[in-house]
Amino acid sequence: MKAAVLGRPAPIGESPLTIQEVPDPIPGPGELLIRVRACGVCRSNLHMVQGEWMPGSPSHLPIIPGHEVVGEVVEVGSGADASRIGERVGVQPLWSTCGSCEHCLTGTEQRCRRRQITGETRDGGFAELMLADARFAFPIPNGLTDTEAAPLLCPGVTALGAVRKAAVSPGHRVGVLGIGGVGHMVIQFAALAGAEVTAITGTPANGALAREVGAHHVSSPASQGSALADGTQDSTIVFAPSAEAVAEAVRVTKPGGRIVLGVPAPIAPLDVGDEKVVLTTVLGSRSDVGQVLDLAARGLIRVVHRDYPLAEVNDVLGQLAAGNVRARAVLVP
Ligand SMILES: [Zn+2]
Ligand SMILES: [Zn+2]
Repeated sequence: MKAAVLGRPAPIGESPLTIQEVPDPIPGPGELLIRVRACGVCRSNLHMVQGEWMPGSPSHLPIIPGHEVVGEVVEVGSGADASRIGERVGVQPLWSTCGSCEHCLTGTEQRCRRRQITGETRDGGFAELMLADARFAFPIPNGLTDTEAAPLLCPGVTALGAVRKAAVSPGHRVGVLGIGGVGHMVIQFAALAGAEVTAITGTPANGALAREVGAHHVSSPASQGSALADGTQDSTIVFAPSAEAVAEAVRVTKPGGRIVLGVPAPIAPLDVGDEKVVLTTVLGSRSDVGQVLDLAARGLIRVVHRDYPLAEVNDVLGQLAAGNVRARAVLVP
């Protein structure tokens, strides 16, 4: 099969991914072999191929990145259900978890310390074929195209988790920073939960995207002029990886409000007298994936995306680094 292989992390300008002919993977016990039809391109992919992602990621080299995957089951390993051959499935960043720790047993399996991450500890979807754990391969509802379904598996699930942690209820004012793949979904989930949503961005194109997906207001951060007043938001959700974005979130959140961080960034000084709450959020459980797919199939949320051939993977990551990708880019092998 053809795959985009990371041999050695390097700046994206050096095209660290190479399109290679590699052996077809063979499904082991409980695994499915999937013919990939679409794979979303995540900012975390960019960080990983440049060698600036979390410790232990990737766990080994060479590796095939990509963790927002939709494809068709073409073969099953021993013990997996052969009737799934022909099924259209999705794979999320959580490739598998242990199934027996306190997190796995209490509905927060994304926190499992023995989790495997698609494209980081197991080969991912920047390829014609990939393996999935049958327990973590989700049926994709009819009515969604391959390329619109793929980003639901990472930005969609991540956004739902963030909005849940923000404890949104009807009429709440919610600020959103970082209007990209995840942020444009955060706006939709928050609005769906009844919030009055303000996108905080200094980039006019991102402001337009925010309005297109249902933001009620668009405001610039204080550093760029017309800004929200201090302490006006019940909660603020941050998917912009910068200290300035977090500081802006802390500023606009009211005393006692919540600041939800979905990206690593230094946390601004907090005034203990304000009793503001800072939470972090990552990915989501299998039941979260099911809920996101269901909401999308019912037309209640949608993905803004643009599709590219797999061979353009380095160029697409370069465009992402330059801030030129609107919402989500999706690769098609
Ligand atoms: Zn992702
Ligand atoms: Zn576990």
